[in-house]
Amino acid sequence: MKLYQIAFLFSLLVLSSCGNPKDSKKEDKQSIKINQPVEEKSTSQDGVTEIILTGNDQMRFNLKEIKVDAGDKVKLTLKHIGQLDVKVMGHNFVLLKPETNINKFATKAVDAKDNDYIPQESNAVIVHTKMIGGGEQTTITFDAPEKGVYDFICSFPGHVALMQGKFIVE
Ligand code: ZN
Repeated sequence: MKLYQIAFLFSLLVLSSCGNPKDSKKEDKQSIKINQPVEEKSTSQDGVTEIILTGNDQMRFNLKEIKVDAGDKVKLTLKHIGQLDVKVMGHNFVLLKPETNINKFATKAVDAKDNDYIPQESNAVIVHTKMIGGGEQTTITFDAPEKGVYDFICSFPGHVALMQGKFIVE
């Protein structure tokens, strides 16, 4: 093939790709295939599940149920959206091991005022946040425990009856 022939073919190509959309699609097929990025299966943002849990002055969490995937990292932020002081309306998030008797645990927690209402001798706690008051927030990051259904509570005295929910690992 001579140079002018190549040039001619090239100009034909350019012309056809500019002038005729159908032809340009044909011509581009190959390059599209090559340039297409390999699709990766996306998980919940790099395996991190972010949870925003709020508590208010009416002793209520906004979530009754929290679901995460096994193997995920969990980034949990507890926000106290009320106004009352931590001494009268403190909230925390306490994740308890399965089979924990919630009421017994809460009773022990009452005596653990100096330890943020987390009973020191208890081994029932998987993870917990600090106790916060109105307008405050706190964040913890932890590995999701193995698959199962767990209870979470606020361990401030008198709050457990209203402030509890299920933490489900699937
Ligand atoms: Zn509370």
